[in-house]
Amino acid sequence: MNYSIFNDLTSLTGVNSRVYSHLKRLLPNTRIIDLLLHSPINVLNRFNNLKLNTAQPGEILTIKVRITAHIPTVRKTSPYKILCDTDDGNLTLAFFHANKHYLQKILPVGSEKIISGKIDKFSTIVHPDYIVNNEADIKKIEPIYPLTMGISNKLLINIIKNSLTLIPDLPEWIDQESINKHHWKTWKETIMKLHNPNNIDELATNKERLAYDEFLAYQLQLQKTRHNHSQQDGRIIKGDKSLQNILISRLPFKLTQGQIAVIEEIIQDQTSNKRMIRLLQGDVGSGKTIVALIAILNAVENGSQAALMVPTEILAVQHTNWITAVIGDKVNVELLIGKTKAKERDKINQCLSCGETKIIIGTHALFQDKLQFKDLALAVIDEQHRFGVKQRTKFLEKGNKTDLLLISATPIPRTLNLTLYGDIDCSILREKPKQRLPIKTSIMQKKQLPHVVEKIEHAVTNGAKIYWVCPLIEESEKMDLAAALDRFNHLHEIFGEQVELVHGKMKQQQREETILKFKNSEIAILVSTTVIEVGIDVPDATIMIIENAERFGLSQLHQLRGRVGRGDKQSFCILLYENTSKITYRRLAAVRDSNDGFYIAEQDLKIRGGGEAAGYKQSGIPDFRFINLEEENIPCTNIYQQAQKIINLDPSLTEFKTLLSIFNQEISSFS
Ligand code: ADP
Ligand code: MG
Repeated sequence: MNYSIFNDLTSLTGVNSRVYSHLKRLLPNTRIIDLLLHSPINVLNRFNNLKLNTAQPGEILTIKVRITAHIPTVRKTSPYKILCDTDDGNLTLAFFHANKHYLQKILPVGSEKIISGKIDKFSTIVHPDYIVNNEADIKKIEPIYPLTMGISNKLLINIIKNSLTLIPDLPEWIDQESINKHHWKTWKETIMKLHNPNNIDELATNKERLAYDEFLAYQLQLQKTRHNHSQQDGRIIKGDKSLQNILISRLPFKLTQGQIAVIEEIIQDQTSNKRMIRLLQGDVGSGKTIVALIAILNAVENGSQAALMVPTEILAVQHTNWITAVIGDKVNVELLIGKTKAKERDKINQCLSCGETKIIIGTHALFQDKLQFKDLALAVIDEQHRFGVKQRTKFLEKGNKTDLLLISATPIPRTLNLTLYGDIDCSILREKPKQRLPIKTSIMQKKQLPHVVEKIEHAVTNGAKIYWVCPLIEESEKMDLAAALDRFNHLHEIFGEQVELVHGKMKQQQREETILKFKNSEIAILVSTTVIEVGIDVPDATIMIIENAERFGLSQLHQLRGRVGRGDKQSFCILLYENTSKITYRRLAAVRDSNDGFYIAEQDLKIRGGGEAAGYKQSGIPDFRFINLEEENIPCTNIYQQAQKIINLDPSLTEFKTLLSIFNQEISSFS
């Protein structure tokens, strides 16, 4: 696969280091193909408006003019003006920071030119897009792209033009019937036409084909992994409930109906001779850990071993402490994390390979090759989207027909489940343990911040612990950090050593140390960017402040809020917002008025309509380029069958490798 579309953008004419740094912000990745898949959002016909007196302010006007006078700049801040005469009135051209000599040269008084640009309400065009002698020199139809600071539409058109010649011919993977039905072109023509659209309908048709391609690529990978798995039968894992019963008798609470139901589903999978791949979805605080532990104990009772993998050391320690406390006297439980010393590691390895250790809990450290099990029957992966597919697959190879239980705390609306996970089995924990006090959430304008700080001062004096989450800024991580730093400095002035900051640029260890300080009450306020670890458990933290809440996805707000309300004290969440529209207010109100993650996720879809899927970004749902999950714009009626057909003919998908890597989906739902 040596196509140059997989080269880095730097190899393109017109992409210097400045342009490159801006493109990096605009595109999901920096290969040439990522630029080619950057699709226009609209089509502009420059020749729609040819008359001054019919053009509305804000519209593009293309018109023949005679230059009548130059009016040089009087003040630095005012523009250089050029007066023109047209067939139906006077037009002014305006230039800021103008080069007088240049303008006199290209627009001499008395000459006739064709001008194209956006007209304002004063019959002025500021910085025309085109100044040419003949109409033919203006490209009639122009794609309009999503842009970012430093990248103009014109620039983008030019760089993309340089890359169009690199598009290869690729084998067709869509069936002829679908192609005919939707009037789709070949893949190559589709990309060519995507950037040279004749009208908006044509653009839509081309994007539709690409959405199909994208979804097919996704389905193929999904089914390929599935295919590989179903090749291998599972084993029957059946415990005698001895440990499970002890555990349940020791719990200070009763399992909820929801927990009982999903435990049954999981144990049934383990007991069957099929290999389990199951996704356990449940809202924060719904009690997924105990469900996982019961599945683990079932494996242990069977005489086998189980591993629990979590994304951070803090979580690993937290789970180990809890599991050891509740059942450590009956089962050998070990912890393996990055910090674990070499000597200790050797001992753990030994105990695992001889089968003495039954349960191992750890972070990525568990993936190391050296680690060997006597009989790994179950792997549980918490916050599953934080682990790479390869890591998971590799880990499963350590066991014999190891069952896999994936855990996700991101509620996904039911309608999306099939799209995202195909036919993977899902267990959903919808109900939460009852005895919790619901978190009291309020929505406030950011200008009330001094008032909030005052309240917090009072709370801190009374021993409260507070999370303060700083805004997510779309432009860059750097700016996220700057905002968080500003807030930290501000709070530091008021609260001194009681405040600390965590952010994504810190080393994980340093971050975890700070979080631990918060947990141990050495500090009272933890300021952070959005990195607050999803599963972190500080039961006595009772206040959550989220700045510029309007920039977060609702599910993300709900997740963040789930950091508080874990103990028996009343907890509060304050969502601060700035300049928000009615819609954003409604969205925030949905979070304020409900504590049910599934309901919130559904409302999010409903209220937001076709907007960006920002809220899903961190939840493990792939970032589709052409598929809009909200609009369900995928003509997908036959896509599952289509993918199946392809897989059956070519299980390793050799023929379509290139297309697959073009759409480059990491499947995060299972390994
Ligand atoms: P999550 O689903 O977010 O991982 P956890 O498993 O950490 O949630 O559970 C959150 C808290 O709820 C824990 O303190 C746990 O002990 C408690 N819990 C779990 N199940 C129940 C239950 N049935 N009744 C009461 N409390 C429960
Ligand atoms: Mg959990």
